[in-house]
Amino acid sequence: MVIFKSRQPPIDLPSELTDWDWLFDSKYSPINNYPADQLAGFQNAITKERVNWADVKQHSTHICTALVKKYGLKAGQTISLFSQNTVWYPVAMFAGLRAGARISGASPAYNIEEMTFALKTADAKFLLTTPGSIEVASASAKAAGLPQENVFLLEGSLPGYTTVSSLIEMGKSYGSDGQTPAYKIPAGKKNRDICGFLSFSSGTTGLPKAVMISHQNVIAQCLQIQQITPTTQKKIMAVLPLFHITGLVHQMHLPILLNAEVVMLPQFSMQKMLDTIVEYKLTELLLVPPILIRLVRDPIVDSYDLSHVTRFSSGAAPLSEEIIQLLQKKFPQTGFKQGYGMTESCSCITAHPPEKYDYKYAHSGGAIVASTEVKIVKEDGTEAEVGETGEVLARGPQVVMGYLGNEKATRETFDQRGWLHTGDQGMVDEENMIYITDRIKELIKVKGIGVAPAELEDLLLGHPGVEDVAVMGVLDDYAGEVPKAYVRLKDGESEDSATGKELMAFVKEKKVRHKWVKEIEFIAEIPKSASGKILRRVLRDKEKSGKRGV
Ligand code: AMP
Repeated sequence: MVIFKSRQPPIDLPSELTDWDWLFDSKYSPINNYPADQLAGFQNAITKERVNWADVKQHSTHICTALVKKYGLKAGQTISLFSQNTVWYPVAMFAGLRAGARISGASPAYNIEEMTFALKTADAKFLLTTPGSIEVASASAKAAGLPQENVFLLEGSLPGYTTVSSLIEMGKSYGSDGQTPAYKIPAGKKNRDICGFLSFSSGTTGLPKAVMISHQNVIAQCLQIQQITPTTQKKIMAVLPLFHITGLVHQMHLPILLNAEVVMLPQFSMQKMLDTIVEYKLTELLLVPPILIRLVRDPIVDSYDLSHVTRFSSGAAPLSEEIIQLLQKKFPQTGFKQGYGMTESCSCITAHPPEKYDYKYAHSGGAIVASTEVKIVKEDGTEAEVGETGEVLARGPQVVMGYLGNEKATRETFDQRGWLHTGDQGMVDEENMIYITDRIKELIKVKGIGVAPAELEDLLLGHPGVEDVAVMGVLDDYAGEVPKAYVRLKDGESEDSATGKELMAFVKEKKVRHKWVKEIEFIAEIPKSASGKILRRVLRDKEKSGKRGV
């Protein structure tokens, strides 16, 4: 049996601590390891609003108390966070975790239909949002059966809505003895049995699903990454969305463990990001391929002095050879690293250790992280040796619990021996570094964010002119990939009655921007297997050959 094992020392993983206790009330907590005036925190790069770890602990204790005592929050219930990046996002997240609740992040760009689906799928009972998202939030809360009084504002104010700052005041009013005690792992259970987060991913097939991430998954991943993070890293820019697994781990948990200041950008803007990098003299930048592409192509970058940047870190999607070369040429003083993984592995399966922060290894997704094993399974079902390509399987304490309420998808993705089937194709070399060569699963990655083809196929099938459809990702210079739809029209319909433009407008009307279909190709037949499954490989080969029509 060929199993590639991590070459890092194994992590010492606590099994009884909750996520909240671990970060705020244990020997690992920076609060117990640094003087109060040296505690780092979350700060908003634009407004300069800031909370340090001691503030986060105190605020989250008060919010937790108010939610439990006044609003009846119970352990195991789901709190949905629907917001752009704000320092109040992690505060609310930790408040929920302290009560033993499950936290589910949703993209602030979702429309009512998408948000309703997210609330229902995660079985959310509480929703925290911002004034800018209140219309979608309140309409979707209503559609999903959440009472209006369970919708709160993370920041700002609006008539009729309770804010996080008033929850803090409510919590305080119970006095120091009246605070709700922090949730403890029940007897007979471990932290790997308790779900703390429900993040969305479509996995290898089908519609988006709520991924159950345990307290232990997040603790394990933080310890795995801490082990290969230089202690000099004292500032982290949080420009990636907090609702994604990268934000959850690398922008809200790991920095606390490292006592590293988190400089948050409420939303992505090239200029604000560059201003922030210069103002805070940020040296290591955690970015995704579409932003790295802009760093080498956007002329605005030339008006900034970025000579203090020492390293780029990329993840969430593949980065092309061309961009890697351009990065190195434009920023010759920098090193480079990647992380490879998925929501179902609570972020990284592999990541570059410091000795590999070199453009020589930039095409690799990194080395297998501590306490983790990887297996590469070839198309014929046998296990690959060093240098051979096949599907990447991973096993380790960061591999998640499964999908909420979806036994079938859970069984298909996580096998009985604990292996996560990633749906990615790759190989491991003699230095134990992984190289991702292709994607076998249906996922499309637009600007690093996952889009499920099945979701767009379901929608387009609802158009009166469409008989059959297959959606897949095609390469795009700017977004990495964009969705393209192959459409078979109904008999009697022509490309004049249901034009590509009309179908694209149909998607635009119903879906958030990153899901918009950028190209339509009309074909006579969608290639399918005997069992009716779309033969995506046939379409991909056709795309590669550049032929149109079937
Ligand atoms: P998500 O669950 O949104 O994090 O998406 C996970 C998927 O993104 C993986 O299964 C890969 O297909 C892709 N991905 C993540 N990191 C990388 C990487 N470093 N290189 C190539 N693809 C990646």
